[in-house]
Amino acid sequence: MTQLLMTPGPTFVRENVRQAMAEQIINPDIDMDFYELYKETCQMVQKIIRTKEEVLILDGEGILGLEAACASLIEPGDRVLVISNGIFGAGFGDFVEMYDGIPVYFEGDFREPIDIEALEAFLEKDSDFKIATLVHCETPSGLINPIETICPMLKRYGILSVVDAVSSIAGIPIETDKWEIDLLLGGSQKCLSAAPGLTFLSVSRAAKALMANRDSKIRGFYANLTIWDGWYDKRWFPYTQPVSAIYGFNRALKNYFADGRVLERHANQAKRVREEVLSMGFDLYPKSGFSDTCTAIMVPEGMDEKGFRDKMLNEHGILISGAFGPLEGKVIRIGHMGDNCDGDKVDRTLKAMRALLGQ
Ligand SMILES: *Cc1c(COP(=O)(O)O)cnc(C)c1O
Repeated sequence: MTQLLMTPGPTFVRENVRQAMAEQIINPDIDMDFYELYKETCQMVQKIIRTKEEVLILDGEGILGLEAACASLIEPGDRVLVISNGIFGAGFGDFVEMYDGIPVYFEGDFREPIDIEALEAFLEKDSDFKIATLVHCETPSGLINPIETICPMLKRYGILSVVDAVSSIAGIPIETDKWEIDLLLGGSQKCLSAAPGLTFLSVSRAAKALMANRDSKIRGFYANLTIWDGWYDKRWFPYTQPVSAIYGFNRALKNYFADGRVLERHANQAKRVREEVLSMGFDLYPKSGFSDTCTAIMVPEGMDEKGFRDKMLNEHGILISGAFGPLEGKVIRIGHMGDNCDGDKVDRTLKAMRALLGQ
């Protein structure tokens, strides 16, 4: 039985994307066509995240985007505001420390979106930060943060925003420029349903200026975003590009645009999942701010969640997720994002859950 992947990344990868990855390898440094293909791929990302600022695609999974943002923007001794109400939000602090920044945490409830008024009150007292980090969709808890309000607020205090939108880009509308986001980053393996292995990010002019005017050098090479400066004009890449991964990603982006109803479908299917799960008798982990890409269900007292997931896989061929860190054993997650977000797939998943619950 082929396994039905319903995890919040990696997601199902269509055959045409897999075929694109099997195409003949060319030399991406010498072949001028590849520069055009890379540029076209970046332009499609710009269109999805609605930015006119530069977009880069890096050869490394989503975490490379987080690290590159921190490595390129943070200088030793910089105080960085780490807005944290989930596992990825808190994890940003570790990257800040890795590059000798000083993380200052604004912490929120894991089950609620960041409280705008509380954040504003915090900033009124202390806004001595060049940069703030935050997460749009906290995938482990299925929660969305109001970046459309937070990022413009940070800007009013002169703070640049770095936003992890790995599990929301192409599933939930994002207006990078309108919301004044300085660095927005995503990954290939979530809502865009390409293979894992690429991260992509937008860099505002303000973020570029900060990188250009640092007192200290950027540490590292792969995570240094300035090595890309002028790549297109110079027809030059800082290192040999992962041709197959870019072919696949380019195809996945074309699939997104050919569909035309992706965001609408995410909203509809997510709503259905939430309603059905509640009618099964479960509670949702977030109290509000539900993500349309991933639903986190509370594991009821006494339920063997690992056993439940094993049965989903072994008896129904459907792979769903648990969570990790402080949420391990506490939530079950359905990833209805990207090509997982399909009426039939969602049906199969919900039916199988009901069958296991004897409903
Ligand atoms: C998936 C994801 C990443 C990438 O991290 P992995 O754990 O390596 O998959 C980063 N941030 C968020 C919010 C994600 O959902």
